[in-house]
Amino acid sequence: MNPDLKSVIELQQVDLKVAELGVLIDSLPAQIQALQSQLDDFIHVHEERKKRLVANQKERKSLEGDIEIIQGKITKHKDQLYQVKTNEQYKAMLKEIAGEEANIRAIEDQILEKMIEAEDIQQHVQAAAARLEGEKARVAGEIKRLQDERQADLDERERLQARRTEISATLSDAVRNLYERIRSYRTGAAVAEVREGLCTACNVRLRPQVYNEVRSSDAVLTCENCSRIVYYVEPPPPEQAEGNDQSAGAAV
Ligand SMILES: [Zn+2]
Repeated sequence: MNPDLKSVIELQQVDLKVAELGVLIDSLPAQIQALQSQLDDFIHVHEERKKRLVANQKERKSLEGDIEIIQGKITKHKDQLYQVKTNEQYKAMLKEIAGEEANIRAIEDQILEKMIEAEDIQQHVQAAAARLEGEKARVAGEIKRLQDERQADLDERERLQARRTEISATLSDAVRNLYERIRSYRTGAAVAEVREGLCTACNVRLRPQVYNEVRSSDAVLTCENCSRIVYYVEPPPPEQAEGNDQSAGAAV
Protein backbone atom coordinates (compact mmCIF):
# COMPACT_ATOMS: atom_id res chain seq x y z
CA MET A 1 0.00 0.00 0.00
CA ASN A 2 1.11 3.54 -0.72
CA PRO A 3 2.77 4.78 2.50
CA ASP A 4 0.78 8.03 2.26
CA LEU A 5 -2.42 6.07 2.09
CA LYS A 6 -1.40 3.99 5.10
CA SER A 7 -0.58 7.16 7.03
CA VAL A 8 -3.74 8.94 6.01
CA ILE A 9 -5.82 5.97 7.24
CA GLU A 10 -4.10 6.18 10.60
CA LEU A 11 -4.48 9.96 10.59
CA GLN A 12 -8.19 9.55 10.12
CA GLN A 13 -8.40 7.05 12.98
CA VAL A 14 -6.60 9.56 15.16
CA ASP A 15 -8.86 12.41 14.03
CA LEU A 16 -12.04 10.41 14.64
CA LYS A 17 -10.80 9.45 18.11
CA VAL A 18 -9.90 13.09 18.82
CA ALA A 19 -13.40 14.16 17.76
CA GLU A 20 -14.97 11.44 19.92
CA LEU A 21 -12.88 12.55 22.91
CA GLY A 22 -13.87 16.15 22.24
CA VAL A 23 -17.55 15.23 22.57
CA LEU A 24 -16.89 13.39 25.83
CA ILE A 25 -14.74 16.20 27.21
CA ASP A 26 -17.39 18.78 26.35
CA SER A 27 -20.22 16.71 27.85
CA LEU A 28 -18.57 16.11 31.21
CA PRO A 29 -18.99 19.58 32.76
CA ALA A 30 -22.76 19.34 32.20
CA GLN A 31 -22.81 15.89 33.83
CA ILE A 32 -20.88 17.24 36.78
CA GLN A 33 -23.24 20.21 36.97
CA ALA A 34 -26.26 17.89 36.89
CA LEU A 35 -24.89 15.86 39.80
CA GLN A 36 -24.19 19.00 41.78
CA SER A 37 -27.73 20.21 41.06
CA GLN A 38 -29.15 16.90 42.32
CA LEU A 39 -27.36 17.38 45.60
CA ASP A 40 -28.33 21.05 45.79
CA ASP A 41 -31.97 20.11 45.20
CA PHE A 42 -31.80 17.45 47.89
CA ILE A 43 -30.36 19.96 50.37
CA HIS A 44 -32.83 22.63 49.31
CA VAL A 45 -35.83 20.33 49.89
CA HIS A 46 -34.35 19.30 53.24
CA GLU A 47 -33.86 22.93 54.31
CA GLU A 48 -37.35 23.86 53.16
CA ARG A 49 -38.82 21.03 55.24
CA LYS A 50 -36.90 22.17 58.29
CA LYS A 51 -38.23 25.69 57.77
CA ARG A 52 -41.73 24.28 57.37
CA LEU A 53 -41.33 22.41 60.65
CA VAL A 54 -40.32 25.59 62.47
CA ALA A 55 -43.26 27.42 60.89
CA ASN A 56 -45.58 24.58 61.92
CA GLN A 57 -44.43 24.88 65.53
CA LYS A 58 -45.02 28.64 65.47
CA GLU A 59 -48.48 28.14 64.01
CA ARG A 60 -49.32 25.65 66.75
CA LYS A 61 -48.08 28.07 69.42
CA SER A 62 -50.20 30.82 67.91
CA LEU A 63 -53.30 28.58 67.82
CA GLU A 64 -52.69 27.59 71.44
CA GLY A 65 -52.51 31.31 72.23
CA ASP A 66 -55.85 31.81 70.49
CA ILE A 67 -57.37 29.08 72.65
CA GLU A 68 -56.07 30.74 75.81
CA ILE A 69 -57.65 34.03 74.79
CA ILE A 70 -60.99 32.38 74.10
CA GLN A 71 -60.79 30.46 77.37
CA GLY A 72 -60.25 33.79 79.11
CA LYS A 73 -63.40 35.09 77.47
CA ILE A 74 -65.37 32.00 78.48
CA THR A 75 -64.28 32.36 82.10
CA LYS A 76 -65.31 36.01 82.03
CA HIS A 77 -68.64 35.22 80.39
CA LYS A 78 -69.33 32.44 82.88
CA ASP A 79 -68.75 34.93 85.73
CA GLN A 80 -71.10 37.37 83.99
CA LEU A 81 -73.80 34.69 83.85
CA TYR A 82 -74.48 35.41 87.52
CA GLN A 83 -74.79 39.10 86.93
CA VAL A 84 -77.31 39.16 84.07
CA LYS A 85 -80.69 40.53 84.88
CA THR A 86 -83.02 38.92 82.34
CA ASN A 87 -83.63 35.48 81.00
CA GLU A 88 -82.90 36.74 77.48
CA GLN A 89 -79.53 38.07 78.56
CA TYR A 90 -78.80 34.75 80.26
CA LYS A 91 -79.66 32.79 77.11
CA ALA A 92 -77.64 35.16 74.95
CA MET A 93 -74.66 34.71 77.25
CA LEU A 94 -74.99 30.93 77.15
CA LYS A 95 -75.13 31.08 73.37
CA GLU A 96 -72.02 33.23 73.36
CA ILE A 97 -70.20 30.73 75.56
CA ALA A 98 -71.32 27.80 73.35
CA GLY A 99 -69.98 29.64 70.30
CA GLU A 100 -66.66 30.24 72.00
CA GLU A 101 -66.40 26.59 72.99
CA ALA A 102 -67.13 25.58 69.41
CA ASN A 103 -64.35 27.92 68.30
CA ILE A 104 -61.97 26.21 70.68
CA ARG A 105 -62.87 22.79 69.30
CA ALA A 106 -62.30 24.03 65.75
CA ILE A 107 -58.90 25.39 66.74
CA GLU A 108 -58.06 22.12 68.51
CA ASP A 109 -58.83 20.30 65.26
CA GLN A 110 -56.43 22.63 63.46
CA ILE A 111 -53.77 21.96 66.08
CA LEU A 112 -54.26 18.23 65.62
CA GLU A 113 -53.82 18.62 61.85
CA LYS A 114 -50.65 20.62 62.45
CA MET A 115 -49.35 17.91 64.77
CA ILE A 116 -49.98 15.22 62.15
CA GLU A 117 -48.28 17.39 59.55
CA ALA A 118 -45.34 18.01 61.90
CA GLU A 119 -44.94 14.30 62.50
CA ASP A 120 -44.85 13.65 58.77
CA ILE A 121 -42.34 16.44 58.13
CA GLN A 122 -40.27 15.27 61.08
CA GLN A 123 -40.01 11.79 59.58
CA HIS A 124 -38.88 13.22 56.24
CA VAL A 125 -36.38 15.53 57.93
CA GLN A 126 -34.90 12.67 59.93
CA ALA A 127 -34.71 10.40 56.89
CA ALA A 128 -33.05 13.13 54.81
CA ALA A 129 -30.65 14.01 57.63
CA ALA A 130 -29.63 10.35 57.83
CA ARG A 131 -29.02 10.26 54.07
CA LEU A 132 -27.44 13.68 53.66
CA GLU A 133 -23.83 12.81 54.50
CA GLY A 134 -24.02 9.72 52.33
CA GLU A 135 -25.46 11.75 49.46
CA LYS A 136 -22.71 14.36 49.80
CA ALA A 137 -20.05 11.65 49.75
CA ARG A 138 -21.68 9.86 46.82
CA VAL A 139 -21.91 13.03 44.73
CA ALA A 140 -18.38 14.11 45.65
CA GLY A 141 -17.09 10.66 44.66
CA GLU A 142 -19.00 10.70 41.41
CA ILE A 143 -17.80 14.21 40.56
CA LYS A 144 -14.24 13.20 41.33
CA ARG A 145 -14.61 10.18 39.06
CA LEU A 146 -15.96 12.35 36.21
CA GLN A 147 -13.22 14.92 36.68
CA ASP A 148 -10.59 12.17 36.58
CA GLU A 149 -12.25 10.76 33.47
CA ARG A 150 -12.20 14.19 31.87
CA GLN A 151 -8.52 14.64 32.73
CA ALA A 152 -7.71 11.22 31.28
CA ASP A 153 -9.61 12.17 28.11
CA LEU A 154 -7.74 15.48 27.91
CA ASP A 155 -4.41 13.69 28.30
CA GLU A 156 -5.36 11.13 25.68
CA ARG A 157 -6.46 13.86 23.29
CA GLU A 158 -3.17 15.68 23.79
CA ARG A 159 -1.28 12.46 23.08
CA LEU A 160 -3.31 11.87 19.92
CA GLN A 161 -2.85 15.44 18.76
CA ALA A 162 0.90 15.01 19.08
CA ARG A 163 0.59 11.77 17.12
CA ARG A 164 -1.45 13.62 14.50
CA THR A 165 1.35 16.15 14.06
CA GLU A 166 3.83 13.29 13.62
CA ILE A 167 1.72 11.50 11.03
CA SER A 168 0.86 14.66 9.18
CA ALA A 169 4.54 15.54 8.89
CA THR A 170 5.22 12.27 7.06
CA LEU A 171 2.57 12.93 4.38
CA SER A 172 3.35 14.41 1.02
CA ASP A 173 1.97 17.93 0.68
CA ALA A 174 -0.51 16.81 -1.98
CA VAL A 175 -2.04 14.08 0.17
CA ARG A 176 -2.01 16.21 3.30
CA ASN A 177 -3.80 19.02 1.48
CA LEU A 178 -6.27 16.62 -0.07
CA TYR A 179 -7.05 15.06 3.30
CA GLU A 180 -7.47 18.40 5.05
CA ARG A 181 -9.62 19.73 2.26
CA ILE A 182 -11.99 16.73 2.42
CA ARG A 183 -12.09 17.01 6.19
CA SER A 184 -13.08 20.65 5.96
CA TYR A 185 -16.34 19.87 4.18
CA ARG A 186 -17.09 16.24 5.05
CA THR A 187 -18.34 15.30 8.48
CA GLY A 188 -16.95 12.08 9.87
CA ALA A 189 -14.53 10.14 7.76
CA ALA A 190 -12.39 11.68 5.04
CA VAL A 191 -11.03 8.27 4.09
CA ALA A 192 -13.24 5.33 3.23
CA GLU A 193 -12.69 1.67 2.62
CA VAL A 194 -14.02 0.19 -0.61
CA ARG A 195 -15.76 -3.11 -0.04
CA GLU A 196 -17.31 -5.26 -2.76
CA GLY A 197 -17.10 -2.36 -5.17
CA LEU A 198 -18.90 0.10 -2.89
CA CYS A 199 -17.52 3.17 -1.16
CA THR A 200 -18.38 2.43 2.51
CA ALA A 201 -18.82 6.14 3.27
CA CYS A 202 -21.42 7.05 0.62
CA ASN A 203 -22.52 3.53 -0.39
CA VAL A 204 -22.18 4.33 -4.07
CA ARG A 205 -20.68 1.74 -6.40
CA LEU A 206 -17.37 2.71 -7.97
CA ARG A 207 -17.02 2.46 -11.71
CA PRO A 208 -15.34 -0.89 -12.50
CA GLN A 209 -12.34 0.89 -13.90
CA VAL A 210 -11.91 2.98 -10.74
CA TYR A 211 -12.55 -0.05 -8.57
CA ASN A 212 -9.81 -1.95 -10.36
CA GLU A 213 -7.48 0.96 -9.99
CA VAL A 214 -8.16 1.23 -6.26
CA ARG A 215 -7.45 -2.47 -5.90
CA SER A 216 -4.34 -2.63 -8.01
CA SER A 217 -2.65 0.75 -8.18
CA ASP A 218 -0.52 2.39 -5.57
CA ALA A 219 -2.00 5.84 -6.21
CA VAL A 220 -4.06 7.81 -3.73
CA LEU A 221 -7.54 7.85 -5.31
CA THR A 222 -10.83 9.42 -4.34
CA CYS A 223 -14.45 8.30 -4.59
CA GLU A 224 -16.05 9.93 -7.62
CA ASN A 225 -19.29 10.39 -5.71
CA CYS A 226 -18.26 11.70 -2.27
CA SER A 227 -14.66 12.70 -3.02
CA ARG A 228 -13.29 10.85 -0.02
CA ILE A 229 -9.94 9.15 -0.27
CA VAL A 230 -10.63 5.46 -0.87
CA TYR A 231 -8.58 2.36 -0.15
CA TYR A 232 -8.99 -1.33 -0.56
CA VAL A 233 -8.08 -4.05 1.90
CA GLU A 234 -7.67 -7.55 0.54
CA PRO A 235 -10.22 -9.71 2.36
CA PRO A 236 -8.72 -12.59 4.33
CA PRO A 237 -8.80 -15.92 2.45
CA PRO A 238 -11.92 -17.94 3.30
CA GLU A 239 -11.28 -20.20 6.27
CA GLN A 240 -10.69 -23.82 5.56
CA ALA A 241 -13.54 -25.56 7.36
CA GLU A 242 -12.33 -28.52 9.35
CA GLY A 243 -13.49 -31.93 8.25
CA ASN A 244 -14.87 -30.45 5.07
CA ASP A 245 -14.79 -33.70 3.13
CA GLN A 246 -16.53 -35.68 5.82
CA SER A 247 -19.37 -33.19 6.23
CA ALA A 248 -19.72 -33.02 2.44
CA GLY A 249 -19.88 -36.80 2.39
CA ALA A 250 -22.49 -36.85 5.15
CA ALA A 251 -24.61 -34.30 3.33
CA VAL A 252 -24.86 -36.46 0.21
ZN1 LIG B 1 -17.93 7.69 -1.61
